[in-house]
Amino acid sequence: MPNPISCRLPCVGVLALQGAFREHKWALERLGVQVFLASTLAALRDCEALVIPGGESTTIGRLLNDFNMMEPLRERIRGGMAVFGTCAGMVLLAREIEGSVQPRLGLMEITVRRNAFGRQVDSFEMDLEIPVLGEEPFPGVFIRAPYAVGVGQGVEILCSVQGKGVLLRQGKLLAAAFHPELTGDLRLHRYFISQVAGWNEACKIG
Ligand code: GLN
Repeated sequence: MPNPISCRLPCVGVLALQGAFREHKWALERLGVQVFLASTLAALRDCEALVIPGGESTTIGRLLNDFNMMEPLRERIRGGMAVFGTCAGMVLLAREIEGSVQPRLGLMEITVRRNAFGRQVDSFEMDLEIPVLGEEPFPGVFIRAPYAVGVGQGVEILCSVQGKGVLLRQGKLLAAAFHPELTGDLRLHRYFISQVAGWNEACKIG
């Protein structure tokens, strides 16, 4: 008999200041979780887990500062809120951003390089091997993507490209350099909800 508390469906926010937030909302809705777009401090306080989308990390970081959301969000995350950052969201989670002092949450022990795959290949797709998602390759969509050039203690590299981390986990923080929300493949969103945020398999998400 499943425990009713562990089976309560989570309320996931998608940070909606700039970038590809709608696509994340649609992906999460398809999994059957409650999702809302969070663009205010009050909305952030209602989130039990948060997705930070791709977009422009400098813009999202500046808006988080301008709207006085940066420090309260850090506090929520330090308090155990699960976060999934994709592309610009990964940059915002990183402790260090090579050559940049731009605003960031800075809570994940990784050093990232922005636009790391070079200008002439701004955008590409490749099949990724991600063992935690099973054997079937995952469609990786890379758009001016970062990668991790360094990882600190407690960070697991779940997938690498050219020897650099493009999917990383540190406890309740998950960072992807690519855009799972632009594919029809829901496995990474499901992994975030069930394994990282911790709403377990008994909930039969998706
Ligand atoms: N290059 C962008 C940045 O560093 C990220 C691009 C993206 O999110 N697709 O903010």
